[in-house]
Amino acid sequence: MDVGIQALPAEVAAQIAAGEVVERPVSAVKELVENALDAGAKTVQVEVREGGQRLLAVADDGCGIPAAEVVLAFGRHTTSKLHSEEDLFRIRTLGFRGEALASIAAVARVTMTTRSRDETAGTLVRFEAGELVRRELCARPAGTTVTVENLFFNLPARRKFLRSETTESGHIVNLLVAYGLAYPHVRFTLVQNGREVLRTTGSGRLEDAAAEALGVETARAMTPLPVLEAPGGRLGARVSGLIGAPSLHRGSRDWMFFFVNGRWVQDRALTFAVEEAYRSLLPTGRHPVAVLDLLLDPADVDVNIHPTKREVRFRQGQDVFGLVQKAVRRGLMEYAALPQAEPQRGEAVPVPEGRPAMVHVGREAQAALSQMSLDLMRPAAPQPVRLPALRVVGQVAQTYIVAEGPDGLYVVDQHAAHERVLYERLQGMRASLAVPMQTLLEPRAVELTRYQAALLEERHEAIARLGFDVAPFGGSTYLVRAVPVAFPEQEIANLLGELLQPVPQREPERDWEERALVTAACHSAVRAGQTLTEQEMRDLIRQLEATALPYTCPHGRPTVVHMTVAQLQREFARR
Ligand code: ADP
Ligand code: MG
Repeated sequence: MDVGIQALPAEVAAQIAAGEVVERPVSAVKELVENALDAGAKTVQVEVREGGQRLLAVADDGCGIPAAEVVLAFGRHTTSKLHSEEDLFRIRTLGFRGEALASIAAVARVTMTTRSRDETAGTLVRFEAGELVRRELCARPAGTTVTVENLFFNLPARRKFLRSETTESGHIVNLLVAYGLAYPHVRFTLVQNGREVLRTTGSGRLEDAAAEALGVETARAMTPLPVLEAPGGRLGARVSGLIGAPSLHRGSRDWMFFFVNGRWVQDRALTFAVEEAYRSLLPTGRHPVAVLDLLLDPADVDVNIHPTKREVRFRQGQDVFGLVQKAVRRGLMEYAALPQAEPQRGEAVPVPEGRPAMVHVGREAQAALSQMSLDLMRPAAPQPVRLPALRVVGQVAQTYIVAEGPDGLYVVDQHAAHERVLYERLQGMRASLAVPMQTLLEPRAVELTRYQAALLEERHEAIARLGFDVAPFGGSTYLVRAVPVAFPEQEIANLLGELLQPVPQREPERDWEERALVTAACHSAVRAGQTLTEQEMRDLIRQLEATALPYTCPHGRPTVVHMTVAQLQREFARR
């Protein structure tokens, strides 16, 4: 039956709009924290119960809201931060859409207490599913506290889409880590289920914030960027921050934090710019740790392109990325001389008769090799299951083992190959419930953040099954007393940092142990850039031959590229 076009009932329209802003608990926490920061808070305290679904609360010591405006603040499109259309093009605050309080109130039970710095009495209001149900005077210091209970209680469909409590809590930790890094002069605390999992001191120093939010061990492996400003202030752009040493790398991109005028943003191009600067310094598939603070003329950034404001658009994107890349490359000089740009592909060197005498594969192309993009090299992965017996010929770029097999040339990525070997070994050991551990002569002390300590408790048994014995020593110090046999000691802190990451990767939580295995294999494997002796190369190849899936590393990337004799003949125009 045709009902014709009708206006949506007001509550339905409000719920649809709210759903755009508040997708999950962390989005509500983000909006409330941003309001606190816009209010000039020096202290922001966040409390969360049951992943934020049961309760989430944000308390600040900011300017507060005058009694006469409290109810208005919950109206749709009501804001104190924007007054005219032109303001939209020079936004200096985190909020400006006037939607957050209205949206949160539409899908939860919300209580706010607030007192303006200029008034003596405070106000308490309570909203349920968007309806004002209580309003009274209250006593409180200047500032604002918003408590959100039973998020999505009136939206069962949305509730069903929420992930596990661990996942939601992890996202909230990550959010506070990010804001702790973006606002080193603000004191943040995060309490989850009654336990304090994050605290920053608000000293104003980014190095301190990094130690508190990312961990002492991680912060120690980071260096400040040289502060770069765009020439002549043409852009009015400035980059600063911290970047990790190439030895500090993670299995996901979640550890690159970008702030644009104090706003935490996600930006593919900025991510790409940073990864490009690190290119060839990190093992394949690993990502850097970085904190990048960009200050731009607000007129040069459009922040109004997404309801959650996590994405922005730059007016002069190319210049911004160039600036970021330059700063990161300069910062990396601290750690390593960077390779020069080299030809992109293998180049045939012609001889008089017009037949190539040699095929030269430059450093860039070597990277391409392992990514299968050199079309003359075909990955051998899909066909044979076993690796044939190989004779080691030598090592190229301290990264690839060159070997001869029954049908031509084999190039083996030493790190990827070793990862495969270690991964299968760990897997086998875990299956037989006996990862041989080696007790360290001197237990190794590591510093954990509060949230890492909380995660260690949760994941303790799984970590023990991997062959690590980690015990509390007092305060934030933990002692690693045993590791799996042959695990390199210098990688301990790195591995723990990665195993105790708050944000679970895309895969569901039950795969955590499987991923931990991959991570442990990666941290124990020989690195690219490590010179291997003949004997070491032969051993590695023998071990790779013995694996069940020799052609891919545990991340699914190729370990071997194969160039058949026929392909060689074609290249040299012998056929
Ligand atoms: P926006 O932040 O986009 O303006 P919100 O719905 O988040 O919209 O908030 C509406 C208004 O309520 C804000 O413009 C601000 O004036 C006021 N407000 C909200 N939270 C706070 C807070 N923690 N401290 C002071 N004022 C606040
Ligand atoms: Mg807001």
